[in-house]
Amino acid sequence: MAVADAHVHFFSHHFFQTLIAQKPGLTWDDAAAKLGWRMPETEPEALGAQWIAELDRQGVAHGTLIASIPGDEASVTKAKAAHPDRFFAAAMVNPRAWNPAAAEGLQIACLFPAMHLYSIQDDSVRPIFEWAQHNNRAVFVHCGALSVGVRAKLGLESRFDLRFSNPADLHAVALRYPHVPIIVPHFGAGYFREALMLADLCPNVYLDTSSSNHWIRYQESHLDLRQVFRRTLDVVGPGRILFGTDSSFFPRGWQHAIFEDQARALYEAGLSAADAELIFSANLLRIMAR
Ligand SMILES: [Zn+2]
Repeated sequence: MAVADAHVHFFSHHFFQTLIAQKPGLTWDDAAAKLGWRMPETEPEALGAQWIAELDRQGVAHGTLIASIPGDEASVTKAKAAHPDRFFAAAMVNPRAWNPAAAEGLQIACLFPAMHLYSIQDDSVRPIFEWAQHNNRAVFVHCGALSVGVRAKLGLESRFDLRFSNPADLHAVALRYPHVPIIVPHFGAGYFREALMLADLCPNVYLDTSSSNHWIRYQESHLDLRQVFRRTLDVVGPGRILFGTDSSFFPRGWQHAIFEDQARALYEAGLSAADAELIFSANLLRIMAR
């Protein structure tokens, strides 16, 4: 089965530089020591080549690379340009600093309202949805619990605001742009019920399955991953679920264990081979081919 990962963070040289600059006195070497990660070379193409080798090693056909700090669009568009048949280019954008010129070659704009402190209903967000509508692009909207491990490890403050993270806030926006695929990661990351409601009401909303889904422990009654998939399949159907891992750094690389857990849960939930193909690759390829 071909696998396309809808959620891989592309921790570029520029990404680390930007984070390091947020903390006075922090140097590149300090950051490398604190993280214990393999730090990327300057050129995003080199990190792209590293991801290609990793995806090859793991038998993964496609990866959606997410530039994970505003202003880093060029990293993923360059990596994608070098491997157009393997990568999709996604980037975190802050609507208040939206630069459509930098979005050239970008396929998914990723919004983090709770990180950048705005409501998804703000007028400032409209140009991004207009861009997606006019260029057949997609928009990713992070909802629910938000923590950024790399920020914590580097000792950076994260003054996020959970008030801006309810999928219900997306309802009117999703209806206004019915042709724009809207991806909500991690099944709503704690707002599972709201994410299901949103996706049920808006046929352009997709749920990504990425990460270890630790939000499950917020549920009032016990749920396991198999039940999460079962309920999502019942409400949303197999055509709007996107497999993702939330892989991010080396040497850990692509998170095969997450793939295994999800594949097992879907098998136990009684998924057919045809539906598995949709979730593990065809849905994402269909959105990206528009
Ligand atoms: Zn992520």
